[in-house]
Amino acid sequence: MNDLRSDFPILKNNPDLIYLDSACTTLKPRPVIDAAIEYYERYGACANRSSHRKGRETTEKIDQIRERVAGFVGGDSEGTLWTKNATEAINTVISGFDYSKKNKVITTNMEHHAVLLPLMRLRDRGKIKLEVVENSHPDSNLEEEIRKKIDKETALIVLNNANNTTGKRQKVDEIGKMAHEFGAKLCVDGAQGVPHFKCDLKKENIDFIAFSAHKMLGPTGVGALVCRKEDLSGLRPLVVGGGNVKKVELNKIEWAADQSRFEAGTQNYSGIFGFGAAIEYLTKIGIQKIEEHEKDLRKKMVNCIQNAGAQVYGDESSASALVSFNFKGAKPHEVALMLDQQGIALRSGFFCAQIALEAIGAKEGAVRASAYLYNDQEDIKKFGEKLEKIGKLYS
Ligand code: PLP
Repeated sequence: MNDLRSDFPILKNNPDLIYLDSACTTLKPRPVIDAAIEYYERYGACANRSSHRKGRETTEKIDQIRERVAGFVGGDSEGTLWTKNATEAINTVISGFDYSKKNKVITTNMEHHAVLLPLMRLRDRGKIKLEVVENSHPDSNLEEEIRKKIDKETALIVLNNANNTTGKRQKVDEIGKMAHEFGAKLCVDGAQGVPHFKCDLKKENIDFIAFSAHKMLGPTGVGALVCRKEDLSGLRPLVVGGGNVKKVELNKIEWAADQSRFEAGTQNYSGIFGFGAAIEYLTKIGIQKIEEHEKDLRKKMVNCIQNAGAQVYGDESSASALVSFNFKGAKPHEVALMLDQQGIALRSGFFCAQIALEAIGAKEGAVRASAYLYNDQEDIKKFGEKLEKIGKLYS
């Protein structure tokens, strides 16, 4: 995969940078940047609005990209809607779900704030009963934990298929099957899964999957929610305004029947163009190849971090090249800053998952290194060398 690096202008412009913060956001390859600019240079109009030529061309292109994004996770374009990011996609499901007949929601203690906060807010307003199951121990069996809590009152299960703290992957197909046995729906936070391994809405019994373009080489400010067309009808839009309706009278709103009901206002067309190019780029390489590359990187990352004397959070089932760690007695930000001074960019703190970090015993947060397809073994070797020196300060 080494020849990919030249596709990333930021790596060319910063030859000494070792970027290990891809779980936060990924770098963008040239085709993605070009596609985002292409919108402004060649298209420039709104989709699904004006009927002039540029408007029609923009609509056509956005529709094609919608199909590409849907197909990447085994969905259909009729069930795919643009959002600002994964957070908005998850909020669309959690806040828009119909809890009038049953209102129990199950989630885990290893979720990002994008999942936990909208759920906790609904719980605090008395709208849902929330069950938060344990999934922080290496030997936690999530399926069993959910089975203890699920019943006919369960409306929704919301969880990630790859954790942003430990990199742990979660097989969701059996959980989806279980949800359906009880007439509930499964919403997967795919922000850390979709960019790294094959996810499939239908094969994995998922009802809703949310993800962000920027974590998979695409631009910031655009994401997607993918589901079956039938499942959209049960959701209430999060934001309403221009483009949501079929007809409006002062006393009556007739909502659009398709996904445009959820896409209020002018969309991020340039971002969507870039999103399409990102999917094309990932597809050309092959998601399986990316997955294997990350597994190799992860092994080396774990070795380097442990050799430097730090504690690694996570276990064997963690497969993405995402590793959180701490040196005993060191403040995570201090370690990240020392690495930054040596050209290594990574994240420290709570990663918007404070409950998860506390559950794994990282009460003051952790340092997180996350690599992607543009990183190579040499990057990890250099990271290991710098880390070893830092480790000596705390030994
Ligand atoms: N879920 C997980 C597991 C994440 O790691 C993140 C971002 O870090 C999100 C959701 C939210 O993604 P975004 O900030 O792109 O909405």
